[in-house]
Amino acid sequence: MLIGGFQRFSLIEYPGKICAIVFTQSCNFRCPYCQNPELVDPERFSNAIPEEDIFAFLETRQGKLDAVAITGGEPTLQPDLIDFISKLKSMNYLILLETNGSKPEIISELIELKIVDYLAMDVKAPLAKYREITRSNVDTAKINDSIAVITHSGLDYEFRTTVLKSQLGKADILEIGKLIRGSRRYVLQKFVPANVLDTKIIDALYYTDNDLECLRDAVKGYVAECVVR
Ligand code: SF4
Repeated sequence: MLIGGFQRFSLIEYPGKICAIVFTQSCNFRCPYCQNPELVDPERFSNAIPEEDIFAFLETRQGKLDAVAITGGEPTLQPDLIDFISKLKSMNYLILLETNGSKPEIISELIELKIVDYLAMDVKAPLAKYREITRSNVDTAKINDSIAVITHSGLDYEFRTTVLKSQLGKADILEIGKLIRGSRRYVLQKFVPANVLDTKIIDALYYTDNDLECLRDAVKGYVAECVVR
């Protein structure tokens, strides 16, 4: 695993649990609003943190931390992700995986192996706008597959969208609502203009808190729960 960052303690990353966070290096998307550019742009990568250091720390926290959240970058690009998570599960940690949904086959494997407990997938845009918003050659059929796999996983999960007014309008949010129709939880994430991959995006138009509440009200009928965060 190429690990670009490690946070020893979080009360907010895994709903209702105390967790550590592992940040993997590299991503196949280039979302301009990405707030982890040092994990996405190879020119900004720092030396990877040895896995042994992570496991040594987590051994000392068994019984104190409930869970490990694995995020990135895009964790499913790591060829040894399954071995890494299996080892954490053998230490009795709950696992939250954050993903951009580009590798449904890896998500399926993790579910079948019963080594993941919470799935959080970014749904970046309506499928027709995916390449534009992610600035990548994404296969949108795979995004659709990941949504289906996660929705039918039987696990806790949530879908999330970072909403910038200059990128996604109300009609786009409603399209996303249709795409994830019937799902358990949808989070509209407010854009925070700091440490982003493309600094030009900082000049973009933002939604106000009131705008975001209106978007939530418009889309909430498609899902069981919709929140702004
Ligand atoms: S926001 Fe997520 S999917 Fe997009 S570039 Fe950053 S790490 Fe990759």
